[in-house]
Order: sequence, then C-alpha cells, then structure tokens
Amino acid sequence: MSRGFGAAGFGGGPGHGKLKFDDDELHSKISKQLLLRISKYFLPYWKQTLLVMIVLCVSAVLGLLPPILIQHIIDQALPDKNLHLLLLLVLASLGATVVSGLLGVLQNYLNSFISQNIVHDMKNQMYSHLQQMPLQFYSSVKQGEVITRMTSDISGIQGVFSNTIVNFASNLFILATTAVTLFIMNWKLTLLGIFVIPLFILPTRKMGNFSWKLAKKTQEKFSEQNEVIEETLSISGYLLMKLFTKEEAEYSNFKTINAEATNLQIRQSMAGRWFMMVLSTFTSIGPLLIYLYGGYLFIQGELTVGTIITFVALLGRLYGPVLQMTNLYVDIKRSAALFERIFDYFDMDPQIVDSPLALHINASGKDIEFRDVNFAYQQDKPALRHISFTAAAGTLTALVGPSGAGKTTITNLIPRLYELDSGAITIGGKDIRDFTLDSLRSQIGLVTQDTYLFNGTIKENLLYANPEASEAEIMDACRSAYIHEFIMELPEGYDTVVGNRGIKLSGGEKQRISIARVLLKNPPIIIMDEATSSLDTVSEYYIQQAMHVLLLNKTSLVIAHRLSTIMAADTILVVKAGAIVEEGTHDSLLKNDGVYRDLYNKQFEPKILS
Ligand code: ADP
Repeated sequence: MSRGFGAAGFGGGPGHGKLKFDDDELHSKISKQLLLRISKYFLPYWKQTLLVMIVLCVSAVLGLLPPILIQHIIDQALPDKNLHLLLLLVLASLGATVVSGLLGVLQNYLNSFISQNIVHDMKNQMYSHLQQMPLQFYSSVKQGEVITRMTSDISGIQGVFSNTIVNFASNLFILATTAVTLFIMNWKLTLLGIFVIPLFILPTRKMGNFSWKLAKKTQEKFSEQNEVIEETLSISGYLLMKLFTKEEAEYSNFKTINAEATNLQIRQSMAGRWFMMVLSTFTSIGPLLIYLYGGYLFIQGELTVGTIITFVALLGRLYGPVLQMTNLYVDIKRSAALFERIFDYFDMDPQIVDSPLALHINASGKDIEFRDVNFAYQQDKPALRHISFTAAAGTLTALVGPSGAGKTTITNLIPRLYELDSGAITIGGKDIRDFTLDSLRSQIGLVTQDTYLFNGTIKENLLYANPEASEAEIMDACRSAYIHEFIMELPEGYDTVVGNRGIKLSGGEKQRISIARVLLKNPPIIIMDEATSSLDTVSEYYIQQAMHVLLLNKTSLVIAHRLSTIMAADTILVVKAGAIVEEGTHDSLLKNDGVYRDLYNKQFEPKILS
C-alpha cells in the first residue's frame, strides 16, 4: 500500500522535507520540464512579459551608442576640430543614456508587477492545495516546514522572477548585440577578445554545484530553525519546555542550529565572492591583449585610436554579461532547487477527492454502517481490522476500549479524514465515497477532546460553524450547551477574546463552546470524543446536560469515557487492538463477563465507589 506521504515519505526524496544530497540530484540538469512548468506561470502576464523583452532589446541596442559615438568624437570631431559635430555627438550620447534610464524605470515596474503577481498566484495555489491535503499530511509533516514553503521559499521565488530571469534575458541581448557590433568593427580583434572567455566559463560548473549544495543545506537549516521555534514557542511546546525545565537545553539546541545557519550563510556569500574575484582577474586580460594587438595595428596604420578605445569599452559590455551569466548559472541552479521544493508540494496527491459522479447527501434519518472495514496508517501495521457494525439512525453508539485501540480512527473514517483501505462505510446504504466531500462533512458535527478555538472572540468562534447565525440563535445554542450564563459573566460577554487556542478557558468550558458550535451547525450525525480530563462535578453536570441536547434525535458515535454516557448508549462497541471484540448494551455486556466487564471493573467501578 502506498499513501504517497507516509511518515517516511516526507523524510526523504529529492526536495521533500529533509533534503538528501545525493550525487544524482547535485548533477541533475535544469530539465526542460521544469522550465516549461515555470514558464506557464508567465502565461497570464504574457503581454507584460513581451513588453519587458522589447524594452530589454531596445536598451541593449541603446547601450551600444555611447561607445560608438565616442569613436566618432575621437576619430572625427576632435581631429577635424568640428565643434558642431562634437556637440551633436555628446548630445546624442546623453540622449541615449537618458532614454536608457527611462526604459530602466519602466522595466523595473514591469518586473515587479510580473514577479509579485506570479508569487501571489503561487501563494494562492499553494494555500488551496494545502487545504486539500488530508489529515495524514499534517500528522506526518513538521509544522515549520509548511510555513517555510509558504513564506521563505515562495519569497525566494519572487527573486527568481524579478531578478534571475530578467537578468538572464537582459544579458543575453547585450551579449548578442555587442558581439555582432564587434565582429562588424574588426573580426580579428573580436576573436582575440573572445579567446579568454572560456577561462571564466570552465570553473563555473563546479561552482554551480557547490553553491547549490550550500543553498539546499541553508534552506534545510532554516526549516529546522522554524521547527524549533514552532515546537518550543507555541503554547503546548512552551508548557512542556517550562514544566520539564528544558529552557537551557532548548536554548542551546537553538543556538547550535542558529550558529550553523549563520555559518552556512556566510559560506554561501563568500563562495560567490571568491569566485567573482578570480573571474574578474581573467577579464582584465582581454583589454590588455586588445591594447597590445590593436596598438600594433595602429602603429601599422590599420586602426584608429577611436576604434581601439571603443573596442575596449565594448569588450566590457561583452565580458560583463558573460560574467553575470556565469554567476547567474549559480543562481539558476539555486532557483531550480527552490522550484523543486515548491513543485514537490504541488505534486503531492490530495488523495481524498470527490469522485466524478459524487452526489449530494442528506444523512437525516439514515443508518451508518461499517462493512468489513480495514485501515492502516502505515504499511503492515493495521490500525483497524474487519470492523463491521451499524449505528442506527437517531441512536447513540458508544465506543469504549483501551487507549490506542482504534476508536478515534473509526470515527475519523466517517468524514473521510482518512480513506479506508478495504471494505465500505455506508450512510443510508450508499457508500460515503459516492458523496461529495463537502456535503458529507456538512452532515457531521465533530466535538473533539482537544477543542480548537482560534484567537478571536467567542462569538467569532461560534460563527465559524454558521456565519449566518443570528445573535438570538447563537445565544440559544449556548443556552442549550449550558455555557450562556458563563459567557455572560465574562467582562465582555460574547465579545471576549479567548486567547491562543482558547487558553483562557477551562477544558470543560471549551468543550461546551464546541458543543454550542456544533449545535449551530445542527448536523444529523454527531461524532464526539468525550474529554478524558477529570472535571469537577458542576462541569461534569453541565457537559452531560449539553450532550443530552446535542445528541437528541441525532445519529451519534461517542468515544465514551464516562459511565453516564455508556449507560445512555443504545449500543456499546468494545474496541481492542483495532477490532470490535464485543457489542451490546451495558447490561448485556456486563453479563458477558468479557473485555467490557474487565474494563468496567478497572475504569468505572472505583469511581462509583469513591
Ligand atoms: P484510540 O482513539 O482508541 O485511543 P487511535 O484510533 O487514536 O486509538 O489509534 C489507533 C492506533 O493508530 C494507535 O496505535 C495509534 O498509535 C495509531 N495512530 C493514530 N493516529 C495515527 C497517525 N496519524 N499516524 C500513524 N499512526 C496513528
């Protein structure tokens, strides 16, 4: 069985999460496929892109004018003492420079327009893609990593669009126009000037690979750093760190990673600089050769001074782009790594999607049936085996059993948070895979143990379930969930901010708010995981009352931890090691003298006595 992204799947593979540096990857080329894929992002902005190309082309030609005009100043205006021509040539040169500058501004605007828009599109694409990823993705990928991809990787890509690609095109135009001009002026001198070019190009390949490796390592370190921040400076992580007095250890861990990341960055910037220094030395050889051979031709009377000076100036326009492009080669390799990381995310299959003929479901009054359901999170480690049962419409089914038995897994399969491996789950006799995910999930209300409230007001949290709910409806739901009085006693009532993840509320209060939230949604199926944490008698009473309202006339599956719930259940399923080992009512199961009786003796009886 392949899930595409098991815990191991995210750990390896080129571009996945933790990056491996195998030789194949380092020597891999920037493939046509990758280029094609990148170029598709330009499609919506093809007009602007075309305009940028025209601007670059015109700028490249305009850039040739000043050196050529200087040749005419030296060879014509000065020897002829022609002031009028001198003035004309100087003004023309100035004009070319001003127009070039103006075109530069236009090009900058277009660049940032295109690159920002492409990044905007990519961010949207990434966000909506990540939304489609199943729960399994989030349980296996480290949190910091998603943030890194969404922020620094995508920002890196903005640089590629605004600088790398444009620089590449600009240099290519300058190179082409200059080379043609030089050949027209004097092909022998041009060949001499070109002679030194291989000196810069040859070491570039090695440098490219080295730099790519460093870039990937740096990205990996940043990702690691983000993970540490996420894990230790979030509420639960912070609590864990404080309670186990791990500040020193965590700080030292952070310092090590931070030092490594800094070191890598310094190495990365220095690697580029050393490389440039060596290359610049080579570029000074070209002009010297021109002065030598050109000077000889001048002495022979074959060349003018103006031509030599213009030639050397134009040679700068030839070497500049070659140097920049060799450096760009490094950038392009680096960018390819970034794109690979992003595209790897885009390529991950959301897996749980609507079937082509998916129908809308209305689950009211319909039975839920598990038919020989098997499921495994990881290959060869079945979490559920041959699960078959029916939760009749309008009844309460309680799931009991030791921790890790598979109760949560059973309930998570109903809204298709995970996809079963074999067997079927039906609602009203129809397979849940034949329904649209949206309609299926709209029929289910989930009350989890760890209620997630976002950092907003209580009202905002409640409206999340039903944005159209009126004030009266919200209050009604809260009354039914036995939380209205409590909310009203808060300083700002329904407008009280609950804090990160609802930290300002107790477990019982949060669960009652979560019940109110589901009441506002009012779905026909309720899945509830009762809080295991011990509640005081008052909270316990309120929760029970709230649950009573919540489950009334609903088809419900409750992972039960309280005797009162179990006693109220129409059917009890005893789950052990991924299988249903017993099924019945409280009384019938007690008589059985099996797993349930044992569980009851250990978990519930002492509580009754105490
Ligand atoms: P229960 O709700 O009965 O305590 P669960 O359904 O949460 O049990 O877990 C059943 C088994 O599946 C356990 O062995 C647990 O470790 C494993 N499991 C749960 N969630 C995941 C997951 N996202 N990835 C891999 N294994 C998991």
